[in-house]
Amino acid sequence: MKVAVVGVQGDVEEHVLAVKRAFDRLGINGEVEATRKYGIVSNSDAVIIPGGESTTISKLIFRESISEEILDLAKDGKPVMGTCAGLILLSKHGDEQVEKTGTQLLELLDVHVRRNAFGRQRESFQVRLEIKGIGEFDAVFIRAPVITEVGERVDVLARYDNHIVAVREDNILGLSFHPELTSDTRVHEYFIKMIP
Ligand code: GLN
Repeated sequence: MKVAVVGVQGDVEEHVLAVKRAFDRLGINGEVEATRKYGIVSNSDAVIIPGGESTTISKLIFRESISEEILDLAKDGKPVMGTCAGLILLSKHGDEQVEKTGTQLLELLDVHVRRNAFGRQRESFQVRLEIKGIGEFDAVFIRAPVITEVGERVDVLARYDNHIVAVREDNILGLSFHPELTSDTRVHEYFIKMIP
């Protein structure tokens, strides 16, 4: 079993370590590889798009055609997780910031996102969420996006302050926050268990 982490920019190494710890906890002898090039995602069972700067990550994945591999993987029913900037990239509909910057999206999740939704006053913070299928979870938000609308097929997994901050649509998981920045590996375990 192999998980790929898109490694072009952002908190890549944290996701790699979180996946390793989650494999250990599940007793699975799995593999995880960060990648900046075409060819790794296609040979994996799941892929994670980390947080970072969504415009930059978008440019690089489309330039390297990693975008195509992610879309193919998703079509095969394999799990794809996007956290923070990664959630923005998975969305079908961006806001005016996404449009203004010409950020190309993968359009795998039928949701509308709002970038940097908590403003400058609350650039980063940690709160306890109740996540459907996982339970209470301490979530770190950093210049986080929120989901403002969801399509019919989208399952809302968590809300914070009336904002939707975690969703799942079949094999696609999108989170506003950073599960890789705390020692709790349950989100990564949940994600690994989505592998068919
Ligand atoms: N604010 C970033 C963006 O819009 C996302 C922040 C993050 O991933 N921590 O791309």
